[in-house]
Amino acid sequence: MNLDKVFDNNEKWIKDKLKVKDNYFEELGKGQNPELLYIGCSDSRVTAEELMGAEPGEVFVHRNIANMVISIDLNVMSVLNYAVDHLKVKYIVVCGHYACGGVKAAMQSADLGILNPWLRNIRDVYRIHKTELNTIEDEDKKYDRLVELNVKEQCVNLIKTAAVQKAYRERGLKVHGWVFDVHTGKLIDLKINFEKYLKDIMEIYHLD
Ligand SMILES: [Zn+2]
Repeated sequence: MNLDKVFDNNEKWIKDKLKVKDNYFEELGKGQNPELLYIGCSDSRVTAEELMGAEPGEVFVHRNIANMVISIDLNVMSVLNYAVDHLKVKYIVVCGHYACGGVKAAMQSADLGILNPWLRNIRDVYRIHKTELNTIEDEDKKYDRLVELNVKEQCVNLIKTAAVQKAYRERGLKVHGWVFDVHTGKLIDLKINFEKYLKDIMEIYHLD
């Protein structure tokens, strides 16, 4: 990637936008009103807006290694609270992807330094779903299933937060789980049963 080319690309992008709408940047400068909070993986192949066909201003984005929602991560929790309490987003999506290096790295017997505590959360997902995962012999299929189960557990982590519980009660905000298949480009809806998970965990995690 040639960094000088980035600025040429940017000039071309500005021209393309203005061709379609001559006040495009005036409008963009007025503020944002995104309806969707997207929490995805940092993987360079999984671009948030591009794979959804979304435009600037439509999606509030947070990305980290393996699309994790960790309750003591100030970054994801700040993004969540800002998106839900201030931007009043209508939907939250956790989007994982097959062949996720973070998910695979989490299951290797290796000391990965600062990544150890981060990826440890994925080992916990494995432990919760060990019975199912241990029946899958094909290594790649096992990791792909772990990717799906990780998305599900991160959705549950979102439901554990006061912000999501309050927004669900007040305006029906729901959490969705998706997986991007890097081999086909297809976006798959895992059809997370929000109400079921909410009901299942509220006995223990009820906050608001
Ligand atoms: Zn990934």
